[in-house]
Amino acid sequence: MIRVRFAPSPTGYLHIGGARTCLFNWLYARNTGGKFILRIEDTDLERSKKEYLDEILESIKWLGMEWDEIYYQSQRFDLYHKYAEKLIEEGKAYRKEGAVFFKYDFETIEIDDLIRGKIVFKELPKQEEVIIKSDNSPAYNFCCVIDDALMRVNRVLRGEDHISNTPKQILMYKGLGFEVPQFAHLPLILSPQGGRLSKRFGATSIREHRQMGYLSEAIINYLMLLGWSPGEDKEIISLNEAKNIFNIKDVNKTGAAFSMDKLNWINGSYIRSMNMEDLSKISKDYLPDNYLPSWVSQDYYNKVISIFQERTVRLTDLAESMKFCFYDDFKYNEETQKILDNDLSDKINCLIEELNNVNNFIKEEIEEKFRKTAETLEVKMRVLVHPTRVALTGNKNGPGLFETIEILGKEKVLSRLRKLVEYWGGINE
Ligand code: GLU
Repeated sequence: MIRVRFAPSPTGYLHIGGARTCLFNWLYARNTGGKFILRIEDTDLERSKKEYLDEILESIKWLGMEWDEIYYQSQRFDLYHKYAEKLIEEGKAYRKEGAVFFKYDFETIEIDDLIRGKIVFKELPKQEEVIIKSDNSPAYNFCCVIDDALMRVNRVLRGEDHISNTPKQILMYKGLGFEVPQFAHLPLILSPQGGRLSKRFGATSIREHRQMGYLSEAIINYLMLLGWSPGEDKEIISLNEAKNIFNIKDVNKTGAAFSMDKLNWINGSYIRSMNMEDLSKISKDYLPDNYLPSWVSQDYYNKVISIFQERTVRLTDLAESMKFCFYDDFKYNEETQKILDNDLSDKINCLIEELNNVNNFIKEEIEEKFRKTAETLEVKMRVLVHPTRVALTGNKNGPGLFETIEILGKEKVLSRLRKLVEYWGGINE
């Protein structure tokens, strides 16, 4: 049975790279009917924080993954010390300046990496390695080997940045008399400019992405594509579908560049496919406190959401873009004022009159009135459409104008158009 593990250190929030490692381990376990172990590598008591631990667990669950077993290294210190003593007794480790060192018995090491194929390690930079530090805390490589062995982890999937640890760990497995697992090193995640994805690039934690209005389904879908592809140019794929077809052999060797545009595109596509009830509910989590005026009914809110659904990239964008649907007090800005350069008071007054006569205030009827008015005035539709949009929304672009008009309702529409006429009147005074 395949046993894999994800081994985060709670010294920071779960980041994109960690989440991708977690995901590929999870997919591998679920695809093969194996076990997915979560091991919290909290041996660095100074830097490990409960806040980070809680967030890591929360983010993994939020992304839709669950673990079969969980262990904390901080609860296993006795075990690591016991093995250190054993190595000392066997002459494979020794104490020096307070710390315990493992003596490498180096030989050329060859591994058959499940992703990268054959890797040969011809030398190590050091002849020894600290396994118990002078403050008595056990070191990463040592705990990792003992735990992977005792937890019967038989496939170690981790980031390529750990390749240099692999030969050291193999020598420790051998020194401790444990069976060596198979390794799979995942390609690095690169920033769009190339180079490693780092804080300098901007948001790197899952938490920040969540706060920025990305859906968990979109993030997890995007993470899958960082080094793996479901084939046939398919890019939108759920966790459930992916677990049926994931194969570690299909993971790329080459670095995967993080693309915000791609993530945005995927997020937008998940938002478009959401049902109204879910989108309406989740979108409210992203509105500032007291954003919605008390007169807003659920029905009105749903209608507003429905016209924005098509064009929303991130849930956090909604608060700003929907504002004109809830508030009247917006001003024309420098850019939109340019659209209002020509005084069209007479024409807009005609439009007001026509719209006032619409009994069934639905988009088809509204559009019809626009056409009629444009025809009568012998102008192109856009002559009326552009200033009307600015008057109603304060923006140059937005959802379909006739739908917007229907949703805002006659009263708001007429009063905002009258305000535009007043604005022209004010300029010309
Ligand atoms: N705690 C290590 C890390 O966060 C785990 C490395 C490994 O998977 O062996 O990178």
